[in-house]
Amino acid sequence: MRTLVISDIHANLNAFKAVLADAGSVDQVWFLGDLVGYGPDPDECIELLRNLPNLLALMGNHDAALMEYIPIDRFNREAADAIKVQAGLINQNSREFLELLKLRIDSDNLTIVHGSPRNPVWEYILGPSNARENFKHFESQGCLVGHSHVPVIFVLKEDGLIDTLFPKHGDRWQADGRFILNPGSVGQPRDFDPRASYVIWDDEEQTWGFYRVEYDITGVQDRIMKLGIPPRQATRLRTGT
Ligand code: ZN
Repeated sequence: MRTLVISDIHANLNAFKAVLADAGSVDQVWFLGDLVGYGPDPDECIELLRNLPNLLALMGNHDAALMEYIPIDRFNREAADAIKVQAGLINQNSREFLELLKLRIDSDNLTIVHGSPRNPVWEYILGPSNARENFKHFESQGCLVGHSHVPVIFVLKEDGLIDTLFPKHGDRWQADGRFILNPGSVGQPRDFDPRASYVIWDDEEQTWGFYRVEYDITGVQDRIMKLGIPPRQATRLRTGT
């Protein structure tokens, strides 16, 4: 069975469509949060996501802020302004879908959150020290996270130390022990590679495949500018920052 693992779409429809086309046929989809914020097409992205097969969908901090579950003043000005523009754009169907997003999913083998198992909405797992702390906050073999917009795997070794892996396009990784895995961001990558990022979990081969795909960035930038979303949200798409 092929599972598409994606995170941080951030209302970037061009990137999202490119990922779906590149991934091809999948049996199920796990979305790790931040469907809205930053980009120009929240309704269209929500509509596309909700119709994907066997969807599990998590709530990110931007989704929570748009729904006013968390205060917008916890965001920097440029992120908050983009959320305010989108809050004026999205329709009632989209709001109803955002309401259904989950904070945390635990199964036998996997825990799935947006930020971290310790703090599902806010905490970034950026390096080995907070990765190590977070292994205490889930029981399963692996934890899938998004939020940092950087594809990365943290592996807990038998001596308690952490190995940090930065997978490249086309890498297929097999777990041996406990791990925390981030598929990177569909709609706003921040590892200096502007291509949209996604992962395919193949449970027969037991591999996590990391992939990058180019998309029409200029078209998204034009729409961001037209909507009055802060220009930084357009320029950063080209640099992957
Ligand atoms: Zn995000």
